[in-house]
Amino acid sequence: MTRMKAFGVRPPEPRSARVLELPRPEPRPGEALVEVLEVGICGTDAEINEGLYGTAPQGEEFLILGHEILGRLESGELVVPMVRRGCLVCSHCRRGEQDMCGSGSFSERGIKGIHGGICAYIAEAPSMLIGVPAAARAHAVLLEPMSVVAKGIRHALLIQKRFQWEPRRALVVGGGPIGLLATLALRALGWEVVTAARKRGTSAKSAVVAAAGASYHSVGDASLLSLAEGGAAFDFIFEASGSAEAAFDSMHLLALNGVLCLTSITGGSALKTVPSDRLNRDLVLGNKVVFGVVNANRQDFVEGLAYFELIEKKWPGALGKLLTHRVGFDNAGALFDLQKTGIKTVFQVSRD
Ligand SMILES: [Zn+2]
Ligand SMILES: [Zn+2]
Repeated sequence: MTRMKAFGVRPPEPRSARVLELPRPEPRPGEALVEVLEVGICGTDAEINEGLYGTAPQGEEFLILGHEILGRLESGELVVPMVRRGCLVCSHCRRGEQDMCGSGSFSERGIKGIHGGICAYIAEAPSMLIGVPAAARAHAVLLEPMSVVAKGIRHALLIQKRFQWEPRRALVVGGGPIGLLATLALRALGWEVVTAARKRGTSAKSAVVAAAGASYHSVGDASLLSLAEGGAAFDFIFEASGSAEAAFDSMHLLALNGVLCLTSITGGSALKTVPSDRLNRDLVLGNKVVFGVVNANRQDFVEGLAYFELIEKKWPGALGKLLTHRVGFDNAGALFDLQKTGIKTVFQVSRD
């Protein structure tokens, strides 16, 4: 059996991430062998490494990390695998909307029950692969997070079909990769965008925001709620800060008839006092909508590619600026420390 290097954890053991030697997967009939080029690292990987979640494939001890995968088929075509595979039982999964699974018994590559992509090869069903144009090679590792942004925007636009919506201003809460991708996508659509993030002063993050013509608000200098001073309100808010407090505070910043998309998966169990009468009253009297999104399906991945094209046409090289660190198997141990600085850390699996 051919073996390959991989980077994975032993769930649920905390801080168990290490370089492993595991058998190279053999594609089953109908499956394609995908050579992995790069894998993006995000907060989910860090939380799996902390033992907060993550499940190894049935009967196995380790889970290979990595769900933001860019790979290549034998034909040379670039591909990105979708993360979630459906339960095959509920009507949503059977329709290809596995991101909306109604049974909860789905699996997720690199997260829940299936190995991730920080290894030389994965075997994958062609129905799970998204073809990527060669022109997107430099930033295609961002397609998985971009698909979540595309889904959030798509759902908001669908929800707002409930009336004649005339949006002008958007607020993005969070300066991580998802927040910055949302900033770029909304600017590419021509929205006026304010991006609120923790980091003070000028940084790689504020530079991305400014280059796309959005304005940067540091919540280190003035609170998120200070954005409401002077009656400022936002027609669309995309929340990706990782903080439940910011999610609830965002509700106070919605304009009349506005819509708030929540994407932060807050792992804790913190209790917080909220002005429940006021929040409820404002939602009712303002015809406001608050909704959550997780994961994405084929339509969102394909729309993500369309956003990439739009963004690169307006601000060439902007997406590449999000890829601030690279690691490989030689220095994999530095991965989670590096990830705390910069924007997106990429695990370089293949040399080319
Ligand atoms: Zn991720
Ligand atoms: Zn399902």
